[in-house]
Amino acid sequence: MNGYLVSEKEADCVGCGACVQICSHHAICMTENRYGFIYPQIDQKKCVQCGLCHNVCPMEHEIIKNPMNRLSFGGYIKDEKIRRNSTSGGAFTAICKAFCDTDYVIYGAASEGINVMHKEISDIDHIDIFYSSKYAQSFIGNSYAKAKVDIQNGKKVLFSGTPCQIAGLYRYLKNVDQGKLLTVEVICGGIPSALFVKKYNEWCISKYGTAIKTFNYRYTGKNRWDDQLIYVELENGKTFITTRWFSRFYSIFLQRLMSRPSCNACRFTSNERVADITIADLWGVDREYPELYDNGEGCSWIICNSEKGIQVFENAKKYMTGHEVDFEAMRRYQSIGLIRKIVHSRYKEFMEDLLVMDYPQLCKKWYKKPTLRLLYQKRIWNNRRRVLLWKIKSKYNYIRHVLNNEGRKKVEN
Ligand SMILES: Cc1cc2nc3c(=O)[nH]c(=O)nc-3n(C[C@H](O)[C@H](O)[C@H](O)COP(=O)(O)OP(=O)(O)OC[C@H]3O[C@@H](n4cnc5c(N)ncnc54)[C@H](O)[C@@H]3O)c2cc1C
Ligand code: SF4
Ligand code: SF4
Ligand code: SF4
Repeated sequence: MNGYLVSEKEADCVGCGACVQICSHHAICMTENRYGFIYPQIDQKKCVQCGLCHNVCPMEHEIIKNPMNRLSFGGYIKDEKIRRNSTSGGAFTAICKAFCDTDYVIYGAASEGINVMHKEISDIDHIDIFYSSKYAQSFIGNSYAKAKVDIQNGKKVLFSGTPCQIAGLYRYLKNVDQGKLLTVEVICGGIPSALFVKKYNEWCISKYGTAIKTFNYRYTGKNRWDDQLIYVELENGKTFITTRWFSRFYSIFLQRLMSRPSCNACRFTSNERVADITIADLWGVDREYPELYDNGEGCSWIICNSEKGIQVFENAKKYMTGHEVDFEAMRRYQSIGLIRKIVHSRYKEFMEDLLVMDYPQLCKKWYKKPTLRLLYQKRIWNNRRRVLLWKIKSKYNYIRHVLNNEGRKKVEN
């Protein structure tokens, strides 16, 4: 299979950085293209043609996936604070707690201003650096190499990331005993262009005289997980919290106009998963399992794909409230993550605009104001209506059940 290192076809590279880390001649570095997507670049003067970079590239080989999901669970972590700070229902922390007893290292994506980096912690008390989904490509750095050393030193390693990052890790660890490794992947809708975020940051600087300090794409501090709030804090302390419907930034971002080319042709969008455990939002919970909606404070979907994944998650259940959920029923709400990526019909046009327009110009052309109908459905009634109806129905059924029992007792007496 020919990959990016030969063809330079952008869709053939997920930017996992496995090639950079395997090259002992330091002949490869990652560089940003004009959209801010990172790609490897080979310094031919240093290259000795050993072929290791081709051998490690997940996109040049068949991807080994787990044949079928084996356990599908919906729920949320019992610890309210963790649930509030996590993206969905805090499943990631529950899994870490179950896996990490002694001598462990956890790898995941952490924010650094508007950038995202893969980092590691060896004390679960510092897990908050991984909380929250960052909808930006995480720079993997030399995390695969570090994880390899950790495993070789006898440590337990929990590695989390996007499915393509997990595929890169497995290629990198091909000849290493993986008994002490647990992988956790997110269901992944794709990585947007970093240039768009940079333009937004430039606009903040010109308007407020200061840059972005913290960017939270999935702010859940207001008990509104399914509203998808965005939280931005500037260096001067000014903060904005906006819903997806009113944030111009988020509205454009969510139209999926600017995904990385490899995301548009993602090889990981399927039921068969790469990692031991897959985590996601339990979208559709209000319809399918209203008892798990619980005031919209966040709900996770956990899919265990391997025996190891099942074993660890069985242990994680004690930290969670929830139950098994039907995989096929919930899959319907995850079309871009599990079924098919749809490339926006005006993708090319947007990408061209992105190069030449500034943030206000992009907003003027591409921001779509929400219609009143949408606002009514999503913001005013939201999913709570269905849950409210379910609650009324459950109460009614309960009262009927009690009255029937009372009636029966009287007759028996
Ligand atoms: C780019 C991206 C796209 C996603 N798309 C979908 C989707 O289409 N449908 C869906 O249901 N869920 C999607 N998710 C997953 C979802 O948003 C939550 O991350 C997931 O449910 C875990 O939530 P939690 O409450 O268990 O954990 P949290 O404590 O919030 O944990 C976050 C986890 O995500 C990892 N992570 C965060 N940002 C990144 C990143 N940039 N790159 C790699 N790993 C990262 C962290 O390492 C950690 O493991 C996506 C996540 C990301 C990062
Ligand atoms: S062929 Fe070998 S030396 Fe050349 S870039 Fe790839 S890994 Fe490095
Ligand atoms: S190893 Fe990863 S970064 Fe390198 S070419 Fe392959 S997909 Fe791209
Ligand atoms: S959409 Fe696919 S290729 Fe893109 S980051 Fe997610 S898993 Fe990787």
